[in-house]
Amino acid sequence: MVKIIDSLISYICVYNESYVEKSIKKQRKRTRKGETEMIYNTDESKKHVTRLCDEELRNEINNISNTYFEKPFVHHARYNNRLRTTGGRYIPGKQMIEVNPKYVHEMPYNEVIGIIKHELCHYHLHMEGKPFGHGDRAFKQLLKKTNSPRFCKPLPSTMKNKVIHSYVCKTCKTMYHRKRKVNVNKVRCGKCSDKIVFKETIKRY
Ligand SMILES: [Zn+2]
Ligand SMILES: [Zn+2]
Repeated sequence: MVKIIDSLISYICVYNESYVEKSIKKQRKRTRKGETEMIYNTDESKKHVTRLCDEELRNEINNISNTYFEKPFVHHARYNNRLRTTGGRYIPGKQMIEVNPKYVHEMPYNEVIGIIKHELCHYHLHMEGKPFGHGDRAFKQLLKKTNSPRFCKPLPSTMKNKVIHSYVCKTCKTMYHRKRKVNVNKVRCGKCSDKIVFKETIKRY
């Protein structure tokens, strides 16, 4: 029996507008308050409460854009607490890049830069009127050119068990993370139905 494996933990972003629009309506009330207060880990022993500022995020995205794309980022950016396991997303209808603040708190900063570079690939292609979806050739080429990641690492806080087994689709390279081992002969990729192969077992520290 072949089972289709689903629920992708590691997609960096979604850009499906109808889904995005629905969730924006829900969160509008919350985010209108402005900045989001979060606990920020600056030191092993101390936890500081700091404000992740949307304006600073916008400036940071502009800096990264100038560095890696040699073009400015002139639109909107904000932190979105409601993103769960995705690192960020690009909302074409609003020319908006959102970043998951959990990645800022829990992951090395390189990971956040990777997420932003990935979203900028969607953004710049969209601005130039080119195809900007994950499956589009222009998108894949720009990822490569700017050395931007296709996937982000799973958040430690989303991994309840200590060990995570990762699998990757042979064809579309979609990553799957499972607490239990998966029989790769019986399970197929949820996106393209091709075979998946074992990649690595990650231990949480
Ligand atoms: Zn994406
Ligand atoms: Zn696949």
